[in-house]
Amino acid sequence: RKGTAVITGASSGLGLATAKALAETGKWHVVMGCRDFLKASRAAKAAGMEKGSYTIVHLDLASLDSVRQFVGNVRRLGMPVDVVVCNAAVYQPTAKQPSFTADGFEMSVGVNHLGHFLLARELLADLTSSDYPSKRLIIVGSITGNTNTLAGNVPPKANLGDLRGLASGLDGVSSSAMIDGGEFDGAKAYKDSKVCNMLTMQEFHRRYHGETGVTFASLYPGCIATTGLFREHVPLFRLLFPPFQKYITKGYVSEEEAGKRLAQVVSDPSLTKSGVYWSWNNNSASFENQLSEEASDPEKAKKVWELSEKLVGLA
Ligand code: NDP
Repeated sequence: RKGTAVITGASSGLGLATAKALAETGKWHVVMGCRDFLKASRAAKAAGMEKGSYTIVHLDLASLDSVRQFVGNVRRLGMPVDVVVCNAAVYQPTAKQPSFTADGFEMSVGVNHLGHFLLARELLADLTSSDYPSKRLIIVGSITGNTNTLAGNVPPKANLGDLRGLASGLDGVSSSAMIDGGEFDGAKAYKDSKVCNMLTMQEFHRRYHGETGVTFASLYPGCIATTGLFREHVPLFRLLFPPFQKYITKGYVSEEEAGKRLAQVVSDPSLTKSGVYWSWNNNSASFENQLSEEASDPEKAKKVWELSEKLVGLA
């Protein structure tokens, strides 16, 4: 039978390119979890995705209610859930003030981490009961959260500190909007959220791989400098970033190539190892990459997991 892959944020960029790459193989049905139904439907059509190869289900990760409804609606489709890809993200590098999700969490960590944390925890039951031979839960990471890299050392650097902000709910009123309790910084909040994504993947692996056989993985697909992720950046940055990545750092990848990479992590029979953070070299060959000290700290992963459980109402 065809596999079914749930992909969040499949209305643009990496998520759309991955949905297209999977649907084109004829071996996958893609459930696109998107906050803007019309945009997603236009994007799928414009990408040339065949009708019947995908289903769009509404999902706003900035609302835990919407995440719960999404899980219910996915179950009502009556399809198995064989792979889940937590891909959607917001990046607000120029925001002077924090904005907040429906549940009052700072937006970047709320959407990129907490919304996905609840979604992944809920859909783990569905993955576990699927009879697909290689079931996977993938959480998209990033080089920018990894301070063991050049890109990860561009200030402001990711740093979750002692998690005091996360512990008090990131509401910006009784506590700071930042995980480490510091001053709000939109670029840092994004990087912190990506560290949470990578820690969550590893904690899932430690807690559930043995029991469920599900492969848990994260990845850095390369710098896809042309996606909507940079839409809130200053115009000069948006103009110069793609050529800078293409010609100077040589870290640039097209959306199509990045989509193929993520599609490999979804379906390639050679990428079944669990607990891995995948990257690709200049010849587009995949390899197991090292995470930074903070992004691979098991104690921190456990704390982030436990605090996140409380915030999303699972504990
Ligand atoms: P895009 O902005 O193109 O895509 C992000 C997607 O997330 C969009 O579909 C967007 O929906 C969706 N989204 C945002 N907020 C919400 C929400 N509240 N609920 C549901 N969906 C939401 O960026 P990319 O494709 O670049 O990013 C995809 C992933 O890749 C992210 O996890 C990012 O961290 C990661 N990444 C990107 C890199 C890059 O260089 N671009 C490098 C490394 C990692 P909508 O279309 O409605 O806006």
